Formats: sequence, structure tokens, C-alpha cells
Amino acid sequence: MTSDEYNDCGPVSGWDLHCHTVFSDGTKTPAELVDLAKANGLHGIAITDHDTTAGWGDAQKAAESRGFPLLRGSEITAQDHRVSVHMLAYQYDPQDEGIVNLFSSTRAARIERAKHMVSRLSKDFPITWNDVMNQTKKGDETTVGRPHMADALVAAGFYHTRSEAFAGAISSSSKYYIPTPSPSALQVVEVVRQAGGVSVVAHPADYSRNKVLLSDFQIRELAAAGLGGLEVWHRGNGAEDRKRLLGLARELGLLVTGGSDWHGDGKPNKLGENLTADSVVAQIVQRGAIPLVS
Ligand code: AMP
Ligand code: FE
Ligand code: FE
Ligand code: ZN
Repeated sequence: MTSDEYNDCGPVSGWDLHCHTVFSDGTKTPAELVDLAKANGLHGIAITDHDTTAGWGDAQKAAESRGFPLLRGSEITAQDHRVSVHMLAYQYDPQDEGIVNLFSSTRAARIERAKHMVSRLSKDFPITWNDVMNQTKKGDETTVGRPHMADALVAAGFYHTRSEAFAGAISSSSKYYIPTPSPSALQVVEVVRQAGGVSVVAHPADYSRNKVLLSDFQIRELAAAGLGGLEVWHRGNGAEDRKRLLGLARELGLLVTGGSDWHGDGKPNKLGENLTADSVVAQIVQRGAIPLVS
């Protein structure tokens, strides 16, 4: 079967371009990701941990040893005015100064923010910063976020699952919540472009993350600054919004991608539930600064 065939969820075969591992808030290693993708018959995968390239080396080793194709990427936390925006970035130079600086400032801000949230939570749920760090599978190399706080609450017996904690104390509408101080989406598009990569707005129509979505105007502005694509095929985007996003992609010459947002056991999303066509991956590789791994 070729990836030129589509159904309502996007291409029926192809690549999963949105996957998290133990280097951020996923529960599986990059090698386990590659093994599962291969076993499931995917054409290839991208590793896209939050605000880091720390898992790239392990992913590359696993992909090379199994002869399985891999794109290297990240999911970068950003904002556009009041809207929280996640930007997927692929095939950029990981040593580029702009990227290195962006990640180190976001990661420092994430730690500060997480410590503040834990201090708020600890008034009602006696957990410590150490309890949260104990949930990170790679210590300092792991990008810390709310999922690790959720896991600490589960370990302490306050919730049964990570998702239950996200519906409770960890929710963005809870009194303990503090947003992650983030660069602007325009800034991320610019930094990724300078580093030779391709940027894609992740789950652009997910109402569970934002009451107000990125507007067509905001997407046009990002496209004018060098945005590469839109992640249309993602479980968070509704049917009407998918149509709107496909129209914008056509109008603006943006790539259309898909991904599962797999987090291992950390979320119900199944690896390969949404895919990206081979022809789109070829465009990303052609535009990117680093080679495809296989
Ligand atoms: P943060 O960036 O620290 O605010 O945490 C947000 C992260 O939590 C995102 O990367 C999501 O993947 C993850 N997340 C959001 N909702 C859930 C949920 N219901 N269950 C598990 N993880 C979630
Ligand atoms: Fe995540
Ligand atoms: Fe995301
Ligand atoms: Zn994600």
C-alpha cells in the first residue's frame, strides 16, 4: 500500500512524525519507539521530545542498527499572544547557536515554573521537588513538565493514573497551574529556519489545550515568516477544523503532516494512529540541514 491513499484520519500508511520518549514525558526509550514502529509496519518515525535533542543519539543508534528510517525533531513550547502553541521542528542543526540558546532558556524556565507549581501543590498534596525528579527517567536530561508532577501524585496515591491527575490538580484550569514562560511562535519559526530546519504547528485546533485557537490571520503571519507546515492529522483537531487547515495549507503552500503524539503508557494515543505521507517526509528531508537516518 502506498501512502498516497487517504481516509478521514489522513494517509493510510506512512510515517508517525510526533513521538515522545523518556527524554521528555514519554514512558518508553527511543529504542523501544523504533522497535514498536517497525513491528507496526510504519514507514518511519520522528522523535519529537519537548524542548530538547537529548534523545537524538539513542534514536539514531537504534534506527541505524535496525535499518529503520528516522527523522530527528523536537516539539517546542511557544505562544502567540494569548494562545499556547506547540511547534514541531525537524531536521535542524542541533548545534546551531539560536537553537541551543532557545532550549537552554526554555528548560531553565520550565524548572523554575515546575518548582513553583510543586510548592503550590504541596500545600494540599504533600509532594516534594525530589518526588517529581524521581519520576524523570533520564534525570537532568529529561525535559520536566506537568506529566512528571502527575506521576508523583500517582506515586503518592492521590490519583490512579496520569490522565486522572491531568483532569484534577494538574489541569491548566486548576489553582496550582502556572504556564511555562515561552518564546513567541514567530521567534521559534525564525530560529528553526536559521538552524536549517522545518517548523510545523502541532495540533493547531486542539480545544483541550486552548479555548481560543490560532486564527487564520496568525497562521498566515507564521507562514510569511517561514513556517513549513501544519499538523492536520492529529486526534485533537476536529473534522471542521481539519477542512479549514487543509484549505489554509493549500493557499499558503504549507506541508500537511500527521502524528500520534505518542507518549508510551503516558497517554492513550496509539503509535501510528495518524500518519504523514512519504512524499511530505521527502520534502522535509530535502529542506532540512541534516540527513535522514536509516
Ligand atoms: P507542560 O508542558 O508541563 O504544561 O505539560 C503539558 C504536557 O502534558 C503535554 O506535553 C502533554 O503531552 C501532556 N499532557 C497533557 N494532557 C495530558 C493528559 N491528559 N494525560 C497525560 N499527559 C498529558
Ligand atoms: Fe507531552
Ligand atoms: Fe503538544
Ligand atoms: Zn506532543
